[in-house]
This record gives sequence, C-alpha cells and structure tokens, in this order.
Amino acid sequence: MEAEATDTDRQKSNHSYRRAWARQMRSERKGNETEMTANYHTHTWRCRHAAGTEREYVEAAIENGLKILGFSDHTPYPYPAEYVSGMRMRTDQLEDYVDTVLALKEEYRKDIEIYLGLEVEYYSEYFPKLLSLVKGYPVEYFLLGQHCIGCEIDGDWAGKATDDPQILRNYCAQTAEAMETGHFTYFAHPDLIRFTGDNGIYEEEMRGLCRKANSLHMPLEINLLGLGEDRPYPDRRFWKIAGEENCQVVLGLDAHDPKAFACPEVVRAAEDMVSRYGLRLQETVELRRPIEPE
Ligand SMILES: [Zn+2]
Ligand SMILES: [Zn+2]
Repeated sequence: MEAEATDTDRQKSNHSYRRAWARQMRSERKGNETEMTANYHTHTWRCRHAAGTEREYVEAAIENGLKILGFSDHTPYPYPAEYVSGMRMRTDQLEDYVDTVLALKEEYRKDIEIYLGLEVEYYSEYFPKLLSLVKGYPVEYFLLGQHCIGCEIDGDWAGKATDDPQILRNYCAQTAEAMETGHFTYFAHPDLIRFTGDNGIYEEEMRGLCRKANSLHMPLEINLLGLGEDRPYPDRRFWKIAGEENCQVVLGLDAHDPKAFACPEVVRAAEDMVSRYGLRLQETVELRRPIEPE
C-alpha cells in the first residue's frame, strides 16, 4: 500500500511539472503556428482500437495549444446480450469512462475545458435504449458518426465501397432522421459513405444531406484522421457541394492516439480545403445535451 501511495505522489508532482512546462511552451509560442482551438472528437482505449491514456490525450491537447477538448469515445450500445461489438466500450464500462473524464475535467480546469461526449450511430431500434442508458450520466454531447447502414448487427460498414444508389439513399435517409432527433451536436465524417456509382446521384443525395444539416444548424466535420491517413474521406466531391450549400464546418481530429494533437500539417491541409471550397469554419460548437440526466 505504501508503495502505491508513493507512486501516486510521484505521478502527481510529475503532472504538475508537465502542466507548468506546457504553459511555458504555450507562452513561448508567438501564435504563428497553425493551431486548433477545440477538438471534440477524441477516443479512449475502451473502444479497443485507440492508444494511450486519457491523461496523455489531455496533456497532448494542452501542449499543442487547445483550449477545449471533448472526449467522444464510441458509445456503448445496449444490443442483445448475444451480440458483442468489437469497436466500442461495453455498457458496463460507461460509468468508468464518465468518472475518468469528469475527474480530468476537474483536475485540469485551469488549463483546458474538457467535455464529456460520445460518438454515436443512429440505429433507430436501439437508440431509445441508448438514451435510457445515458440518462443516468451527465453526458454533454453526442457526435453523429454513422459507421454502419441499417444496424451494426446485420448492416453494412458505411465506408465500404459501393455503386448501389439504394445504399447511398439509405445512408442519407438514416442520417437525416438522426439529425432530426435533435440529440446530436455535429455530424462527424458525413462523407464516410464511399459511393463509386453515378456522380449525378451522389451529388443529388449529398446536396440533400447538406441542406438537411443547414436547416437544422448542424455543423459537418472535416475528419482529420481520414485526411492524415489519406483515407477515401474527406471526399472532395462532398466538400465541394458543402461549400456551394454554405455549410457550417468544424475540424475533428478523431484522435485515436495522443500523437494526433501534434500534426499541424494535417490541420493546415484541412484549412486549405476550407478555403478552396469556401466552407464556413467554426472553431467551436454549441453543445447540445443529448438528454437531461436523471
Ligand atoms: Zn467515427
Ligand atoms: Zn471517431
């Protein structure tokens, strides 16, 4: 027990040293670097495909000049017991996730604003059950991240290449319904759908998606993970349409590693897209609480 206490003490003094160092680094910067003010799209190890501790994400965000950090790990989903998802925390991990983020929010409140969120797919059959689960916790926002069409259990991965217009239409209809619920703060990687069919159909459907987002004042996210890794998203076809429709956009790191905060060249590439397509970039977003906690 004694050894544990000593370790904790050492950790604490190490953290306060690192915080002081981060402050020093910030004040030495002259503001000429490309920096993000806020990132609302951050994962944790619980989703089973992210590295590092929550504290490392917070420290990396501070060291790289962020003022706002939102955690939005892949939501647990109350699926039937026989189905186990490989890409999200279990429902019994939600409490620990909430406690961990809230403890960091308090500890680092002088250095950075931390918010508690979740990245959530809209699966109409399970979404009400998810809201009932989340009602027990002070979750401050949901990002819409529609990774599957239909449902994860028997649906298709949204990023799988398809030339079937019906799949594209289903994606657009499902995410339109999601946005209309009013539970979501912004739409992460709206261009995850990888449509390889007729460009005219793509344009018509995605223009509809952009107009729906505008009518609901829903910002669309340029996903910096996809941009940095040269994935099929961000899809330039989509962002051209979003620019023509004067959509509000936000940059999201989709951090699955604390190193994601130290990539100014990716931020610059995203800002180039913003100016090329005439997008309306917002540095921060107004959080919509998905449901009032009980
Ligand atoms: Zn995602
Ligand atoms: Zn994500």
